[in-house]
This record gives sequence, C-alpha cells and structure tokens, in this order.
Amino acid sequence: MISHRIIATDGAARFGVLHTGHGDVATPAFMPVGTAGTVKAMTADAVRATGADIVLGNTYHLMLRPGAERIAQLGGLHRFMDWPGPILTDSGGFQVMSLAKLRKLDADGVTFQSHLDGATYRLTPERSIEIQHLLDATITMVLDECTSFPATSDEARTSMQLSMRWARRSRDAFQKRDGYGLFGIVQGSIYPELRAESARALIDIGFDGYAVGGLAIGEGQATTFAVLDATVPHLPTDAPRYLMGVGTPGDIIGAVQRGIDMFDCVIPTRAGRTARAYTSRGVFNLRNARFADDAAPLDPRCACPACTRHSHAYLHHLFKAEEMLGPMLLTWHNVQYYQDLMRDLRTAIMDHRLDAFASATRAGWMPEEPP
Ligand SMILES: [Zn+2]
Repeated sequence: MISHRIIATDGAARFGVLHTGHGDVATPAFMPVGTAGTVKAMTADAVRATGADIVLGNTYHLMLRPGAERIAQLGGLHRFMDWPGPILTDSGGFQVMSLAKLRKLDADGVTFQSHLDGATYRLTPERSIEIQHLLDATITMVLDECTSFPATSDEARTSMQLSMRWARRSRDAFQKRDGYGLFGIVQGSIYPELRAESARALIDIGFDGYAVGGLAIGEGQATTFAVLDATVPHLPTDAPRYLMGVGTPGDIIGAVQRGIDMFDCVIPTRAGRTARAYTSRGVFNLRNARFADDAAPLDPRCACPACTRHSHAYLHHLFKAEEMLGPMLLTWHNVQYYQDLMRDLRTAIMDHRLDAFASATRAGWMPEEPP
C-alpha cells in the first residue's frame, strides 16, 4: 500500500505528498522517462539534482533487454540504475502496440516479436505484473489495451471492457506489499459515458491510484482536457491521479488545473537530444543560426549547468558539431525546466493563486518555432 496525503487544494488542483516504500513524491509530479534503465543522456545524480522524486521505467524495453529475471538477480531496477527512490513501471502494453512486430492480441493477452531480434514473447496481465515485480517497481501499472484513436463508440467500449477484465486479473496477480502500489487505468477514448463506466469498474476492483490512459495519441489538447473534465470527477479524491504520456508544459498546467497529480512524457528528454529547448520564454531550436553569437544564457531563471555555465552560442556550437555534450546539457536543462514548473505549480496551489500563475506562465511563452 502507498498513501497520498493532500496538503492544499486550489479549485480542482491538489498539492500533496505520495508516501511510498522508496521515499516521498511531492505532487503534482513529473516523472522523467527512464526507458531502458536510464533517463537518456543523464546520470542518476543529474536526474536527482533537478528535483525529480520519481522516474518511470519501460517494461517492454527492460523485458527484452537485459531481461526482468536478470535485473532481479542483480538486485532490482533501483540498484541496477542507481535510483533508490520511487520507480513507476508501465505495463509494456503501449510499447508492444507501438514498437513490436507481428503483434497479435487475443482475450488473454498479446503475442509479439521483439523489434530487436524478432524473438517471440507473450505478455498477459499476470506476466506483466510478474515482470514489474521482478523489476521491483514501486508503482506497478495494470496491463491494458490502449484504444486506437480515432475509435468508434462500439470499438472503444469493446476495448475498454477488455482492459477492465485485464485490470481485475492484474489486481489478482499483484502481490500486496507495504510501500508498493498498483494503479488502474481508465480507458474509453473520447466518450464520457465510457470513461465514467471505466472509472466505476476500476473503483469496484480497488487500486492504490488511478491513471487516465489512451490520451496523448494525436487527439489534441482540447480533446485531452475534455476527456479529463469527463473523467476526473469520477475518480476517488484520496488516491493519486496519473495522466499517462502527457505532455507539453501547457498540457501539464491545464491537467493540473483539472486535478491530475502525476505525469510522464518523453518530450523534455527527446527534445534535449534534438536541440529543442523548453524555457520560461517558450520553445527554441538551438540549431538556429541566430544563436551562433548569442552570449546570453539559455534561461536566466534556470539553475542547471547549461544555463549557469554556458551560452546559447556554446550550446548551438555543440549541436552543430554533433558533440554528445549538447544532448547531455540540453536534456538536463529540459528536465530541470519541467521540475521547476512542477515546483512552481505546487507552490501556486499552496498559495491559492494557480490560475494567475497559469496565465502568467502561458503569457511568457513566445510562439513555438518549427523544428
Ligand atoms: Zn537550464
């Protein structure tokens, strides 16, 4: 069991602390994505230095390489990647659908070929829970089917009902331990009545936290927010709420205003490797020639090494010269920007000025440059 203590609220938004067996997580929280046992281009110390309390690990990648049994023998994922703090692992289902070859879904699970070597694997709700147990995940996610977008109401209902059956099997397979938790995932595409039905089914099964899944797959921000408006009111107030795979800083602010407590997304790390900088003034492409002679720091409000020790011009040079320090510094900066945003959101909720903070932050962003 894990517990979420709400300290302050502002509208639907909540500032709280998630207590786990591997440490506390201040919420709303952003989880940097540690895909294959590493937040790409960052040491664990650097991730900690940004203020991140929790990271995400990908079951799909880790089960293929180096293998869940091997990680268990080596002392679990915390020790393997030098992250003693909380780790949330996904179920593997989303990556099976987006990365694996020759995948075949049936009522019992999914069979697929590894995108690495073509070997055949089988993932069922029980096996996904077992793998996450072997990894020693602090927070385990149920295996679900990520409904494709767009989907008709009938397609979305059939898919959601399959996910609810798998959610119950995941709950039955999960070994309850103090300090560890299992989250259910609300599905139902863009249909409010299906989202409500899914939330009720999950609450009936009973979970330590509730995720909103099936978003950030091309539906657009207005639809994401509409689904949250139709879903969050059906979720328990005392359990943490996790919006999977979201998003941009603007997505996160809007979701926090709608009562979401946890986020993960590859945007800050992926952007860091492709010269895109997230800053208090908006998003910039550091490959742009206008930065070649710019001696100013990337973001004067940021305390990361890229901003306190270097200039736009140096970062521009690193990317032009394809030096690996470029992705390292910019990933650190982007993760720092996201963590600073979460800290500022928590402070704004505590001070009951979230809407004003949200407006001022959005107003500071210039229109995004093309990649
Ligand atoms: Zn910075």
